[in-house]
This record gives sequence, C-alpha cells and structure tokens, in this order.
Amino acid sequence: MNKLFELWKKYSYALLLIFVVVSLFDFRIGMSAIICMIAPVIVSFFKGRFWCGNLCPRGNFYDNVVSKFSKNKPVPKFLKSTFFRILVVLFMFTMFGLGVKQNWGNPAGIGMVFYRIIVITTLIGIILSLFYNHRTWCHFCPMGSISAFVSYFRKDKKVLEVSNSCVNCKICTKKCPMGISPNEYKGNALDHPDCIQCTKCAIACPRNSIGYDTLENKK
Ligand code: SF4
Ligand code: SF4
Repeated sequence: MNKLFELWKKYSYALLLIFVVVSLFDFRIGMSAIICMIAPVIVSFFKGRFWCGNLCPRGNFYDNVVSKFSKNKPVPKFLKSTFFRILVVLFMFTMFGLGVKQNWGNPAGIGMVFYRIIVITTLIGIILSLFYNHRTWCHFCPMGSISAFVSYFRKDKKVLEVSNSCVNCKICTKKCPMGISPNEYKGNALDHPDCIQCTKCAIACPRNSIGYDTLENKK
C-alpha cells in the first residue's frame, strides 16, 4: 500500500497529462474531471485537505513538474484572502453552471466544459507559479476552498502535530507551499484548514518535531 502511495505521489501527474491529450479525441472523456471536483470535498470531511497534498493529479503536477521552474516566492495575501476565494468559487461555479446548462443533453459539450475549466485553471496555476510558488493555484482553487471550509467540521481530527521538541528554527515555514508556519503550532495539532498534509514540513524538520502522534511521544 505504501509503495503504491509513493508511486502515486511521484507519477500521478501523468493522469492529468493523459486527460488533457486523450479528451481531445473524445470530449465526453472530459466529464471524468468530475471525480477531481467531488473527491477533495468528500475526503475533507474525514482528513481535511489531504486530497490536495497527496491524491490530486494536478497538485502532483505542480509538485513534481512546475516546482522545477517556479519562482518559489510567497503567495500574496490577497490571493489567499477569504474575499478573493469566495469570488473565485462564485465565478467558477457560475461559468460551470452556465456551460452545463447550454450543453444539456450533449455529453461531448458538457465534457468540453469540464475540459476547458481544467486546462484554463491549470494554465493559470502554471503562469502564477512563475511569479510565486508552485502551489499558488491551491491557495484559491474553488474545490480546495470548499474543502478547507468543510474540514472545519471533519470527523477525524487526526492531523499532523508539532511536538514541544520544536526549537523554532522555522525551516518548516520556509518549506510550506501553503504559507503556513508549523512552528506556531508547537505543542499542538497542526490543524490549519489549508494544510494540505503534504508533510514537506515534517520531512524538512531537523528535530523530527512534526508528524502524527508526536505529542504523545515527545512531550
Ligand atoms: S523545522 Fe522543526 S524545529 Fe524547526 S521550527 Fe519547524 S518544527 Fe520547529
Ligand atoms: S504545514 Fe506542512 S503539511 Fe501542511 S501544507 Fe505546510 S508543509 Fe504541507
């Protein structure tokens, strides 16, 4: 299972590339993108934004491909503000709804609506990564924003934790693609709603202070 997960984290971006190419031959395939719209929200009821940091093929594309040429600069506050995120959710769902309505009864037309949304938003993410970091899109992705909102109510509160062994060196903060400062959670659960649980902070921490169940073990 772990092996499979590792492979997924390394190569699932290939699914995005296959989707982009294969849908050109039959736009009905574009409708499969609905999986990536619904899944993050369902997962967030149990594990917060775990989908975004581990299972999303587009997130994987940003991590494994786009990060290689990203500017790696902090994302501006405006792009992660609640106002901007609500605006993006409303805009995207209005465009999506109108597109589906116009093409009702025409599977290829509806597939084209999905396809267009995926391609355009992925391109926006790529362009923004040239100015900021490779996960800039994930700061205001409509499905990510809805998942963050839902994760306030998640059932499984098991999230990463920061033990008291943290020495505040802030290496984790520099590594976090979501602009979170894990060190601020010292002695607590890292339950920020936008934590995508990518574990980049945990891997970077020289004190091994971040992980699951660290509070019990290292207090
Ligand atoms: S990298 Fe580890 S020790 Fe350093 S601030 Fe972050 S949690 Fe604390
Ligand atoms: S806090 Fe850690 S696990 Fe959460 S998004 Fe940032 S680097 Fe990833």
